[in-house]
Amino acid sequence: MKSTRIAEIKGRELLDSRGHPTVEAEVVLECGARACALVPSGASRGEEEAWELRDGDKTRFRGLGVSRAVHHIRSILAPALQGQDALDQLEVDRKLCALDGTPNKSKLGANALLAVSLACAKAAAQAVGLPLYRYVGGSQARILPVPFANLVNGGVHSEAPLDFQEFMIVPRGFPTFSEALRSGVEIVYALREVLQERHLSVGIGDEGGFAPELHHAEEVLELMTLAVKRAGYAPGREIFFAIDVAASQLYEKETGLYTFPKSGARSLSIRELVGYYQTLAQRFPLVSLEDGAAEEDWEGWKLLTETLGKTLQLVGDDLFVTQVARLQKGVSLGVANAILIKLNQVGTLSEAIATATLAQQHGYRVMLSHRSGETEDPSLADFAVAIGAGQIKTGSFCRSERVAKYNQLLRIEEALGPNAVYAGALSL
Ligand code: PGA
Ligand code: ZN
Repeated sequence: MKSTRIAEIKGRELLDSRGHPTVEAEVVLECGARACALVPSGASRGEEEAWELRDGDKTRFRGLGVSRAVHHIRSILAPALQGQDALDQLEVDRKLCALDGTPNKSKLGANALLAVSLACAKAAAQAVGLPLYRYVGGSQARILPVPFANLVNGGVHSEAPLDFQEFMIVPRGFPTFSEALRSGVEIVYALREVLQERHLSVGIGDEGGFAPELHHAEEVLELMTLAVKRAGYAPGREIFFAIDVAASQLYEKETGLYTFPKSGARSLSIRELVGYYQTLAQRFPLVSLEDGAAEEDWEGWKLLTETLGKTLQLVGDDLFVTQVARLQKGVSLGVANAILIKLNQVGTLSEAIATATLAQQHGYRVMLSHRSGETEDPSLADFAVAIGAGQIKTGSFCRSERVAKYNQLLRIEEALGPNAVYAGALSL
């Protein structure tokens, strides 16, 4: 085989789905294989996330430019990695971290590091002639994840007066990924009608979900239930619900209370908030709750887990920020029972895989996730299959930066043929 050593790395400033600049890296190997990777960007970020380096130069893109991160790729990462074997992803990622040298990748920027890390994996996959999911996940990678599709966008992702950030459907009761996906798409068509009949907006938020003028979670879940039935599916048997509260956005550090600035509802203590979740779980087929307490509210997380951890999947997103140390703390305190994996929360592919593996070893479920600012890069789908996560959230079934991931999962399902296993079918 011709050499898989890195010959060249380019960086460039492109745009994400919100029109914000983002980093692309292109890795070229000596054998001629080449691949590009684009990084996404969050809006409701955990405080401990790896550092997304932005220029802050107000004369360009209102300060959001990433030309410094791109410059770091060209001037520091490219020369240092030239000649490195791209097949040795662990070593590539270790070098990337060492070149930065800070705990949160704030010197060179996690956006610069992740772009190179991912482009390297993609180029290596191409060099050895394997699809990305198989190159990263090995010959046993075959589990298609349950798509947690975000049908209604609230919080900082839309103008809707909803304080909870995401209302998702979970099409679990289907034998294959493609059938689960089809049900979800049909439910979106139905929900559009249900909203229109009530003269509610069918405009969409950042993740492709509707952003109607609704104030309370119950109202959303009621309309979603109607849509599921109208599409001909059974809530609680085939279709379940999930919520990402993104409670860090609602938490008031001084008082320890949870406030609801968009809907104007009264502030709640964590005990009252957990009680509210319980009511929702009794009324609706809720199976998963993400960031139900704020990232610094470990006591709140404990209460949440003690109360609902046996019946609901409790996903830590801002809580764990895809980082081993935060997850270890969570495991030792016994909080949450699942983790969201977002590659740009940690900054390299190897570190994200290490966190996901640790979670699986401790019996925590794993969900791969997009960011609200996304790109057309579909590789999240490959990583979900590679890691065997069994769950993915990548928005609603519109906006091509979201659909790109679903389409890639459909391609992978076809490529796997009879060997494909749909994770939803496993939990039937
Ligand atoms: P973000 O939010 O991508 O805007 O940070 C997504 C989430 O909270 O899951
Ligand atoms: Zn979240």
